[in-house]
Amino acid sequence: MLRPIFRRVLTGKQALIRSYAAAAQEAIKEPEQEKSEKKNDKNVRETNSFVMSMFKGQLKTEQIFPYPDVLSPEEKSTLEMMLDPPKRFFEEVNDPDKNDELAKVEPHLIKQLGELGAFGLQVPEEYGGLGMNNTQYGRMVELVGRHDLGVGITLGAHQSIGFKGILLFGNKDQKQKYLPDLATGKKLAAYCLTEPGSGSDAGSIKTRAVKSADGKYFTMNGSKIWISNGGIADIFTVFAIETENGTVEKMAAFIVEKGFGGVSSGPPEKKMGIKASNTTEVFFDDVRIPAENLIGEVGDGFKASFDLC
Ligand SMILES: Cc1cc2nc3c(=O)[nH]c(=O)nc-3n(C[C@H](O)[C@H](O)[C@H](O)COP(=O)(O)OP(=O)(O)OC[C@H]3O[C@@H](n4cnc5c(N)ncnc54)[C@H](O)[C@@H]3O)c2cc1C
Repeated sequence: MLRPIFRRVLTGKQALIRSYAAAAQEAIKEPEQEKSEKKNDKNVRETNSFVMSMFKGQLKTEQIFPYPDVLSPEEKSTLEMMLDPPKRFFEEVNDPDKNDELAKVEPHLIKQLGELGAFGLQVPEEYGGLGMNNTQYGRMVELVGRHDLGVGITLGAHQSIGFKGILLFGNKDQKQKYLPDLATGKKLAAYCLTEPGSGSDAGSIKTRAVKSADGKYFTMNGSKIWISNGGIADIFTVFAIETENGTVEKMAAFIVEKGFGGVSSGPPEKKMGIKASNTTEVFFDDVRIPAENLIGEVGDGFKASFDLC
């Protein structure tokens, strides 16, 4: 049930936005005479460019008002209800200065965030998440970012990229196996693409996953750098070049559990900001990955690496 106080705030906000819009529209109304003079001036070219219009002293209000209003009344009220507990968590429990000083998000905070559903915002309810759409997710991320960006990176690296591959491209078995623990924050995820010699040029990665002769597993070797949640994650989405019978195939994405063995991480990087987020190197040494942990098909990895970012 949406609390009356939130209903009032919401209505007040909408009224404020509307009055701003009306005032702005009023302010840019040109006197009729001036308008017709401009129409006659052949040097004043009509344009739909927002920026060019600004330089001409005109504001194209229809391009910015109304503020995107895509949620149904029911979705809006659900969102407002969902925002209240995390808002109180960030105002009353979480201390961003302390997190910054400790350069980590302490386990008891991770636990509470998990209980709030913050680790599975877009995971369908059948897998234990909150099933939010992108707009609702954006609003929640806005709340987190306003209070603590270190926590924001921890949550974002987990669900915006860490297990997003399973959510978007995983098969039913993969979703059933991994999403419930990830959605509740019982297990944390990381996304491993960047390597010492490969950043923007994702296609140049050197990490290799060699398929076994019987086709039952892959053996992965390589290393990654700048991995958010690298030192605290249990589940990794790892991009590697797959090779079979000595032939180099294409890029593929794999679900790698820390528990497979051969997965280790370096010390947390000492950053200048977002200190509470964990960023490390991650090493894969002869990691044996079951064949069923390939996400999608071999060759899907390159596209997936961009779809997830
Ligand atoms: C705090 C932090 C967290 C991170 N978390 C993760 C993570 O969780 N997982 C992960 O895989 N990676 C992560 N990264 C790595 C990040 O994704 C890479 O830094 C990024 O992909 C850029 O790669 P690079 O640093 O090697 O820069 P480069 O690719 O070397 O680029 C350097 C500069 O050159 C420009 N440039 C590159 N190529 C071109 C081109 N062809 N034309 C024009 N300009 C170009 C770039 O825009 C950039 O300004 C993280 C990085 C940081 C700093």
